[in-house]
Amino acid sequence: MKKEEEMKRYIFLFELASPHEMISQARKTRDTWGGSVLYSYLTWKGMKKAMEDGMGEIVLPQLSDKDKTKFLHTPNIFTAVISSPQIPGEVERVVLKEWESLASEVKKKELGEFAGDPVLEKIWKRQINSFFRERIYWVCMEIEGELEKEDFLRVSEYEAARKRMRNMIQTVEEEIKCTLCGKREVLRVSGKDIREFWTELREKMGVGNIRKGERLCAVCFVKRMFLKILKDLLKESLSEEFPSVSSIAVSPWVKKEKEKPEFRKITTRIKKFLQGKGVFCTSIYPSFTGIGEWLDGAWYYPDYLTPERVEKEGECELSGSERKKLEKIVRELKDFIKNAGVPSKYLALMKFDGDRMGRWIRGEHVEVNYREYLQRFSEAIFNFSREVREIEKNTCARIVYAGGDDVLLFCPVEDVFKVARWVRECFERNMQTIKGEMDDSPTISCGAVIFHHLYPLYSVLERVEDVLERTAKEELGRNAFAIEIIKGKEHKREGGKWEILEILEKAKECFSEGLSPRIVYHMFEEEEMENVKEAQEKEFLRLLGRHTEKEVFRKNQEKMEGLADIFKYADWKKAATLLSFALTIQKEER
Ligand SMILES: [Zn+2]
Repeated sequence: MKKEEEMKRYIFLFELASPHEMISQARKTRDTWGGSVLYSYLTWKGMKKAMEDGMGEIVLPQLSDKDKTKFLHTPNIFTAVISSPQIPGEVERVVLKEWESLASEVKKKELGEFAGDPVLEKIWKRQINSFFRERIYWVCMEIEGELEKEDFLRVSEYEAARKRMRNMIQTVEEEIKCTLCGKREVLRVSGKDIREFWTELREKMGVGNIRKGERLCAVCFVKRMFLKILKDLLKESLSEEFPSVSSIAVSPWVKKEKEKPEFRKITTRIKKFLQGKGVFCTSIYPSFTGIGEWLDGAWYYPDYLTPERVEKEGECELSGSERKKLEKIVRELKDFIKNAGVPSKYLALMKFDGDRMGRWIRGEHVEVNYREYLQRFSEAIFNFSREVREIEKNTCARIVYAGGDDVLLFCPVEDVFKVARWVRECFERNMQTIKGEMDDSPTISCGAVIFHHLYPLYSVLERVEDVLERTAKEELGRNAFAIEIIKGKEHKREGGKWEILEILEKAKECFSEGLSPRIVYHMFEEEEMENVKEAQEKEFLRLLGRHTEKEVFRKNQEKMEGLADIFKYADWKKAATLLSFALTIQKEER
């Protein structure tokens, strides 16, 4: 017989809070990727520790041993049943230690002789040591017998209360703040001007790591640089790079053109010229393009490839003959584009999130055997977060994270509808095993922002959150999608229930097949249209006939007339806006 003491069981909930903050403090897509990997990795380390004594069991999320990069599926929160109240403290220590040692590896490798400087060491220690200490929250409670939903409810409520008493570590951060987070003091060394230090460091680290004018704190520096170290540490196929925004924007165009000798020729010409002037000009591309590292997408825009830009990025001066040479290259590029079409300057950031997941996890409707229900639930979520990665094999999308029911990804504009539909279908397929009171299953919502490649990334990351939470979830009542298009100073936002998406996909096809864009402008002109569904449908069909050539209309009649279904879900003005979105997206197709 085991002693009474050993039979005790505890429910343990652990959270590494505020991943969004870290992911959204980004100037490069690589920062979002770094932030996401860091959170997954540290939580995963904590989970492994919780199971170490062989008595513990993770109940949410589910983990698989088959996957090599398994930690990438790890959300920032887990729940376990454990055998000792000592374990949570040990888990916390392991996570903090792992973070500190990753950071110190980065320091050793990247800062070289600057490591050891007393001023730098002081800032480093203060920032690194407090960062995750402020973000770890856990709750541990004894349970009796099998895990019941009441236990789950109790532990979640307790954790929420625990989070309201925030972990605040008092630190004083000096005036000059990090250009990435804007919160913490920049790294510096004794006896050296800050600007001088960063210029020296940037040169030492090689191109492509620190931008001109960037000055980072210890945390942001580690976030930017730790992926390579983690990759070596794990000996796993982990991508340390992330495609740049412009490379995602142009990826369908590059994929289409990549075999053409003229394309390869102009690419080599641009690259050689830029590299000759010390410009860091390459990026990896989404894996669907099949090209790996290539000329960064921005340099395919003739209005980007200017002498001023080259001088700025290469920190050099172009001679008269070099300027002439560049002019010639730009002319060749323009000629190529004249035949091949213009590469898109826009791309999309999309965020997906399961609706009311807290309620589904608590399983308030489950009468018996909650433990079995939870098992099924965590399996479904796990399968979703693994399967959803397949989107990278079918489109030029690139995932920042897919942990739990959350997905954040970048994709070219032309893929927005396809990606939205695909992710939603993947979620619903995997969630079919979970049934609610009304025989319903969990649903998912999506927010997307379409933006210019030069639009500030941190701002897009904030907006996508708002599009998802405020528009798709609150205003449209969940199980919905919403899209915001940012063009110049204009922000347009609209969305609807998922049924509309199918119609918009068809509309996009109709525009490619010859439906005139004028129909949209015409609809906006008739904004005063009376709000009667039949009348709106009738007027829309009349406009369809007017704005399509007879032959084209005859060939696509069924599909085109099907667009009138949009009035089942939207009034005239909303339909006009949504169709204009389909048109914008179609225009970016290559
Ligand atoms: Zn910072």
